[in-house]
Amino acid sequence: MPDFLLYDSLTRQTRPLVPSERTADGTPVLRFYSCGPTVYSYAHIGNFRTFLTADLVVRVAEALGWAVRYVSNVTDVGHLTEDDVADAAGEDRMAKALRSKEGERFANVWDLARHYTAALEADWRALNLREPTVRPRATEHVREQILATEALVRKGHAYETDDGVYFHVPSFPDYGKLSGNTEAEQLDVGAAAASRAVVVDEQKRDPRDFALWKKDPGHLMQWHSPFGWGFPGWHLECSVMAQQYLGETIDLHGGGEDLRFPHHECEIAQAEALSGQPFARHWIHTRFLLVEGEKMSKRLGNFLTVRDLTAPPEAGGRADWGAPVDPLALRLALLQGSYRQPFNFTRKALKDAQKQRQRIEEAARVAEEALAAGREGEDRLAGPLRQAYDDALAAMCDDLNTPEALAAAYRGVGAVLGEHHRAPLSAAAARSAADFLDRINALLGIVRHEEVAAEPAQPETDGLATQVEALLVQRAEARAARDWPRADAIRAELDALGVEVMDTPEGTRWRRKIS
Ligand SMILES: [Zn+2]
Repeated sequence: MPDFLLYDSLTRQTRPLVPSERTADGTPVLRFYSCGPTVYSYAHIGNFRTFLTADLVVRVAEALGWAVRYVSNVTDVGHLTEDDVADAAGEDRMAKALRSKEGERFANVWDLARHYTAALEADWRALNLREPTVRPRATEHVREQILATEALVRKGHAYETDDGVYFHVPSFPDYGKLSGNTEAEQLDVGAAAASRAVVVDEQKRDPRDFALWKKDPGHLMQWHSPFGWGFPGWHLECSVMAQQYLGETIDLHGGGEDLRFPHHECEIAQAEALSGQPFARHWIHTRFLLVEGEKMSKRLGNFLTVRDLTAPPEAGGRADWGAPVDPLALRLALLQGSYRQPFNFTRKALKDAQKQRQRIEEAARVAEEALAAGREGEDRLAGPLRQAYDDALAAMCDDLNTPEALAAAYRGVGAVLGEHHRAPLSAAAARSAADFLDRINALLGIVRHEEVAAEPAQPETDGLATQVEALLVQRAEARAARDWPRADAIRAELDALGVEVMDTPEGTRWRRKIS
């Protein structure tokens, strides 16, 4: 088996990823934590590119015969609007989302979190991303975060102010080792305060100190703690949940490049101050994604979600991006660029991916039919397909070189279709083709959805938004099938829920009727 080479953003070197533990029978166990999204809206395709990188790490590890413990969290409290530039400043993104236009349809902030978490999980499955071993939520680990805050105060790494509890950065000399940012200026506190009316806590002992706990008895989500009512700081959840599920030292920690500082720097400080051990032995960061050469933003209208591209307009898809695509074509499009480079997502990339996707499906159909036909004859595919798979695996082990891996996969698909066009495949050749497609699918996830997990039944307590979205999808299906009586019946059901549906050029929108 080849080494799994991965660029490590801590040592700034490409070096083998090496699991530190083995099971009793000698199987290496990779312990991997990848930061998930804040569920205040639909995750965009840039977020999903980062989750796809994590998915590929898991798939390569499995291809090498490793066991994987993979944790990816859901942030549903404590991530403030200004957290990226000045610690613990601004407003909780969840509360802000509830007040926004999209927030009108949610009963409360918990309903909003539930809806976007369910949407995240659905999009995750649509893109054929491996389920994490654990998907912990910040709001379900507040007790652990309070205990960690108390421990950090006890160890002299944190202190209390009128406003909260802060980690004291000078108490941790290694601060800055991941990002190279060691000075207060890099937090941009001054500029942020000047330009965004950010409130800086006067009692902070160092401008770099960051919040472990925010006191806020007026906050929409709050818990009781020895420091008063409030909520945990954003950075704390990941340190605490990673150590809880994976141990004090993990093999690999990942996320989008925007998380490297301050989020991951703060995670290291908290975790290492708590345990006295190195937190993560290897770090991986995915570069950002552009859409048609521009940064994604709601203002530019180029903010793309998975459903924007894969759902029909009736179910929330974007008409201006053409007909909805197969989610696996979107996955293929995102694989066209290496995670180490910024990726420019374009209409052309999506179109090319759709074409390749059709060829892959055709190869799968050819293999299946030839297997069923059971023709006698030789197998000229075994050698070339073994080579194509080995090349794909080698490319993935070379710092997740997805363009090379895709090229190898397409060579294999081309070989299957070429052989088929010469003459119908023998059963032996069909077995080689099917085996190749299975292995390529396990490695890259581009042939078919692997775990078509049954949709969980909607629990009674589930939010209005989730119910309505499910009905809208059913209505879109009924309309596509020209089953007008059924579409009308679903509309009546939506009416009964007190929901107003509007069909617009940007897709179907809805809101709670104001009574
Ligand atoms: Zn995180």
